[in-house]
Amino acid sequence: MATTQDDVRLLRSAGRRVTAVRLAVLGQVGARPHADVETIFRAVDDQLGGVSRQAVYDTLRSLAEAKLVRRVEPAGSPVRYETRVGDNHHHIVCRVCGATADVDCAVGSAPCLEPSELHGFVLDEAEVTFWGLCPDCQTSAAADAVTTPKGQQPSPPPRNRER
Ligand SMILES: [Zn+2]
Ligand SMILES: [Zn+2]
Repeated sequence: MATTQDDVRLLRSAGRRVTAVRLAVLGQVGARPHADVETIFRAVDDQLGGVSRQAVYDTLRSLAEAKLVRRVEPAGSPVRYETRVGDNHHHIVCRVCGATADVDCAVGSAPCLEPSELHGFVLDEAEVTFWGLCPDCQTSAAADAVTTPKGQQPSPPPRNRER
């Protein structure tokens, strides 16, 4: 668990000024891996009070530029942030509720997958997202199957939320 002192050091080593908002954003993202911007904003505002949404957006953008946070953007899902940076880990995302977990890169470094055809490109990354159902949603899917009369499937929940 990173302490505030660690975050102060991180900001300094990235050449960024240490501010209360930057520290709060780093701390809250660290405490809530893969949280979306709204969740981070609410947590930072609870912590500091009177912080604007725009300030949190701008701080996240500048921390991502400094590579102190990583932006994760699964298809159809709002942008999320995490403090686990500098490795080539992947994500496994629940199609129903969007729960996201880290999966270590099987190979350990990017690009961990080689395409069958490079078309002359120089490859540096393979963005891998695994999709499925989280344990909670498996449980409710099983419960739905029991209560839904045969031949009458419930309509699937929307997979894509508007950004
Ligand atoms: Zn789920
Ligand atoms: Zn992650």
